[in-house]
Amino acid sequence: MSSRVDTFARSMPTATAARVRRATRLVADKRMPTLSSVFADPEAARTAAADTKRYVLDNLHRLLLEFERNAIANGIQVHWALDAAEARETIVGICERSAPKWSIVAKAKSMATEEIHLNEALFKAGYPPVETDLGEFVIQLDHDTPSHIVAPIIHKDRFQVARSFERAHVGPYTQVPTELALQARHYLRKQFQASKIGVSGVNFAVASTGRIVIVENEGNNRLSTTAPDVHIAVMGIEKLLPTEDDLALFLPILAGSATGQQITTYVHMVTGPRQGAETDGPREVHLVLLDNGRTDAMASEQRDILKCIRCGACQNICPVYRAASGHGYGHVYGGPIGAVLAPSLDFAANRELPFASSLCGACEEVCPVKIPIPDMLVDLRTKSTAAGSWAMFATGATNPNLWRAGLALTPWLGGIGAKASGWAEFRDPPKGQGDFRRWWRERA
Ligand code: SF4
Repeated sequence: MSSRVDTFARSMPTATAARVRRATRLVADKRMPTLSSVFADPEAARTAAADTKRYVLDNLHRLLLEFERNAIANGIQVHWALDAAEARETIVGICERSAPKWSIVAKAKSMATEEIHLNEALFKAGYPPVETDLGEFVIQLDHDTPSHIVAPIIHKDRFQVARSFERAHVGPYTQVPTELALQARHYLRKQFQASKIGVSGVNFAVASTGRIVIVENEGNNRLSTTAPDVHIAVMGIEKLLPTEDDLALFLPILAGSATGQQITTYVHMVTGPRQGAETDGPREVHLVLLDNGRTDAMASEQRDILKCIRCGACQNICPVYRAASGHGYGHVYGGPIGAVLAPSLDFAANRELPFASSLCGACEEVCPVKIPIPDMLVDLRTKSTAAGSWAMFATGATNPNLWRAGLALTPWLGGIGAKASGWAEFRDPPKGQGDFRRWWRERA
């Protein structure tokens, strides 16, 4: 197992582990009954969803341009960002042009903004973001990070939330969940009223109409995208669907896989800014299309990971995730999806994550778009091992002193390794073959 995950799993308090196990099981158990209640044949629905996302990837270039054309026609201002830094710069630039310094940014839950570390950039630029999703709000109060792509505070219980609210003067200590929700609602309402800019993610973008689709259960997304004067949406370039008809499949398959709901409480279809005499809605809508390694992933063997619709079902079912929680992976995307996506977007920084899996195959079985996660993990492990061996060889082979030391120490280290691993229990440890350089010198 990866040292990162292994270390965390062993150090994670038992109570936290129990909370994560309980919550993930609860949602995982609701997945199949819900999907069966919506689709006559849930397996056929998964196949259709996988085929649609494959079509999107096969035609990504054309669909992106079609989407951009239609979105611009709707009045959405489209920005392309090659990497996280460019995305942050674009968003901060929009804030600076649209609102005075120290204006509040109402922020809805978005993994893309977590990926680009937007909050730090907004704080630094003088546009304090306020997380308005209940879970993300708690994360922000606690200076914590999300541990699940759908349920960011899956590792916390209501008592911890109550203590956080009391500490941050959101409200007096209470153990009643509805009272905690009301405290947050009351506190956040004022933030919405004061905010000049709203930031959100995107669940789907429809190429044929140029509309973006956002799903949620709390209503904070609706307020973040409609109350402020300016709405900035951030979206990975793979989130496209060809037409709005595809939503009939993707909305319920996402909700069923993510939270065991037939459909989320809210589905927002954002067409563009307010028009003519309309008094509601933002004056400007911006969309940042984020690459950040996705084009490279498209050209790799892990291309299919870009079919992911961020439902979190693979996290809920994964025995490693259940033991380690999302924090153990050390990346915003934890669990099976993270073990493939993180190294696909940045291999050098995350090449040990593919080892954080038992390869039991449960993730592939629940994935609504049938991503072959275990096969990808094996490929990435091979790549990671090869990269490690070659990196070690290259360092040694290009440094004469290291090479000589390596030659001298190899038989000795090999012997120790063979004994320590138990390999030598039934075998003779390998013997050194002598120093070739000395042999060559003596004969030259
Ligand atoms: S990999 Fe599949 S199961 Fe996991 S989050 Fe993505 S779509 Fe959901």
